[in-house]
Amino acid sequence: MAELRFSALKEVFRREPLVTTPPSKDISKYFNSNVFDLHKMEHYLSKEAFRVVKKAISEGKSLTRQEADQVAIGLKAWALEKGATHFTHWFHPLTDGTAEKHDGFIEMGDNGHMVENFSGAVLVQSEPDASSFPSGGIRNTFEARGYTAWDVSSPVFIVGSTLCIPTIFVSYTGEALDYKAPLLKALSELDKAAVEICQYFDRDVTKVFGTLGIEQEYFLVDEALYYARPDLMLADRTLMGHQSSKDQQLSDHYFGSIPERVMCFIQDFETEAYKLGIPVKTRHNEVAPNQFECAPIHEEVNLAVDHNQLLMDLMRRIARKHKFRVLFHEKPFAGINGSGKHNNWSMATNTGVNLLSPGKNPKSNLQFLTFLVNVIKAVNDSNDVLRASVMNESNSYRLGGHEAPPAIISVFLGTYLTEMLNSIAHKVTDRKMTPAQKTELKLGIGKIPEILLDNTDRNRTSPFAFTGNRFEFRAVGSSANCGAAMIVLNAAVARQLVKFRNEVEQIIKKGRNKDEAIFQVLKKYIIESQRVLFEGDNYSHEWHTEAARRKLCNIPGVPESLKCYLTAESKDILIGPGIFSEKELESRVEVEFEKFTKKVQIEARVLGDLAINHIVPTAIRYMTVLLENVKGLRDVFSAGDFEKLAGARKEMIISISDHITSIKKLVNEMIEERKKANIIDDSFRKAVAYEKKVKPYLDEIRSHIDKLELIVDNEMWPLPKYRELLFTR
Ligand code: ADP
Ligand code: MG
Repeated sequence: MAELRFSALKEVFRREPLVTTPPSKDISKYFNSNVFDLHKMEHYLSKEAFRVVKKAISEGKSLTRQEADQVAIGLKAWALEKGATHFTHWFHPLTDGTAEKHDGFIEMGDNGHMVENFSGAVLVQSEPDASSFPSGGIRNTFEARGYTAWDVSSPVFIVGSTLCIPTIFVSYTGEALDYKAPLLKALSELDKAAVEICQYFDRDVTKVFGTLGIEQEYFLVDEALYYARPDLMLADRTLMGHQSSKDQQLSDHYFGSIPERVMCFIQDFETEAYKLGIPVKTRHNEVAPNQFECAPIHEEVNLAVDHNQLLMDLMRRIARKHKFRVLFHEKPFAGINGSGKHNNWSMATNTGVNLLSPGKNPKSNLQFLTFLVNVIKAVNDSNDVLRASVMNESNSYRLGGHEAPPAIISVFLGTYLTEMLNSIAHKVTDRKMTPAQKTELKLGIGKIPEILLDNTDRNRTSPFAFTGNRFEFRAVGSSANCGAAMIVLNAAVARQLVKFRNEVEQIIKKGRNKDEAIFQVLKKYIIESQRVLFEGDNYSHEWHTEAARRKLCNIPGVPESLKCYLTAESKDILIGPGIFSEKELESRVEVEFEKFTKKVQIEARVLGDLAINHIVPTAIRYMTVLLENVKGLRDVFSAGDFEKLAGARKEMIISISDHITSIKKLVNEMIEERKKANIIDDSFRKAVAYEKKVKPYLDEIRSHIDKLELIVDNEMWPLPKYRELLFTR
């Protein structure tokens, strides 16, 4: 069995970097070359079709059949020129991946000849069989069809020979079965609400976009070693493996020079990303050995989410060319850092203003403070549902560990802004302010430095940190479709802005002027949001006690915290404005419970199989060697000498035997617990049973295996060890 491990290692040692050449040294020459962007639309579409699509994009509207027919003609011409033979609607089902079903352009013509055809009808809508996608009970099997509809705000692109059309995915009865449909609604709510607020400060603002820059962390493992680890192949993480004697203690990997073979892989996927219009900009080694990060320049939220999904797909494919496997799992290796997907988020206007960046004068700074405080208030009020939006099985291994932001969602502002907000809370009065008081306040606000970027301290432990001109939501997991987190964040802020406007208008009605009304409500929000503001070390034990005192959400269980999607507050932000229907929201939570159960189930099965079929037989074989050795000693030496010599061997035999007995017993118990959990009908209770009764066995069984790894002859050990997985490249 150990042969697989050693032949894999030999393969790794023979690897050469795979050098590829980009189409040009100037990225701008081929950036977007596989995207049907505005520039190409102008070239390939009729004047009328181009006008219609541009309008649909800017207004977030869909096209009529006739309009779509016109667009399809130009799109087809471009796609055929690029060598595309197929097209697909590309969507984000609730699986964390993307889905595509390819159809050829070919059709049988009237006189028996093949013709390439592509109509407006298939461009805007398609009806894939939805029956095998998670739906949480929305879709009955007799209503198996779902349909996909073109999202014009995300451009069409070509991968290989397939034209990909970004779409939403809904059930035949109209309920969303994906992340994109509700995300677009949440973003539209944010747009409407934020524009209304901007109107207080600048009449030219007619559109507000959420902006998102996603830092993607990942691990690389050589393909040969990956194939020798069934747990990585089936569960995306190692379910066993003793810690390597050296891993990240010396912080010598972080920001180190990127290994050559890895660099070739990075350059290759960056080239492909540029062709697809994904503006990847940053790359570096991360904290753990063989861990890396890449980050594109921020874009409008919907596009950034699409691009992140596409990028992950691209990285997986290109990695295979370079004989690597990318691990997007949040915690592929125990004992060292896991991976996150930091969501840098802000809002921008059609006038080019970043609403979370201080401006040049008191007026623009008041606008900045207004948005800042409203975001804080939204995070304060929607604390539990925000947390639910990032909670899942794989991220639960990372959140709460002493490496990543904890599961308690708090906001970090830095000293400057903390003091600024405190002074507003102290200076503003509910009575009419004197001109002198107003001037003093405005002077203070006017002094906010235009560039806060260099003034904000960095608190790496905060799950939701202000970083100068944006918030960084760090709790999102590396494997997630961040659509889930973005739906909740944008919806929460949208709802908050609506409430803010109502409160301001009430005060204005009572005869106060606009600025005064704004100040009064901001003051109230600052006071009400104190509990969510935290500047200290989020990893510390004291914070957990303090957070509990502040009544911040900290439910360690995954199913339990997912239930927060269904609180009154959550329903207010998600169902209130129609982002979800009650049925959609409930079914989404149902999907999450099921996903959780299935993932733990898979891990438990894989670990059970490996323990019994790989580890126990190996341990027995080594034990037999020791037994033979002891027998030999007894044959050769006198009884007295034998006792002296055989002691250590006997201890090893007993210890191996004890571990084998424990593993066997624990695996049996785990199977029994699974059987009990499997007959539970209610999906929440089933998920809880898996979490409370099955999952603890994973660690227990593992600990025996990891101890055996240290005792058993290295030559016999079947699975690549941590030191091999983490240090070979
Ligand atoms: P860090 O120092 O936090 O590791 P990175 O350079 O890796 O930062 O990534 C920062 C990300 O934040 C980039 O994707 C960047 O484009 C993004 N970003 C910058 N400004 C904004 C903004 N206004 N809105 C959203 N994202 C932004
Ligand atoms: Mg970074």
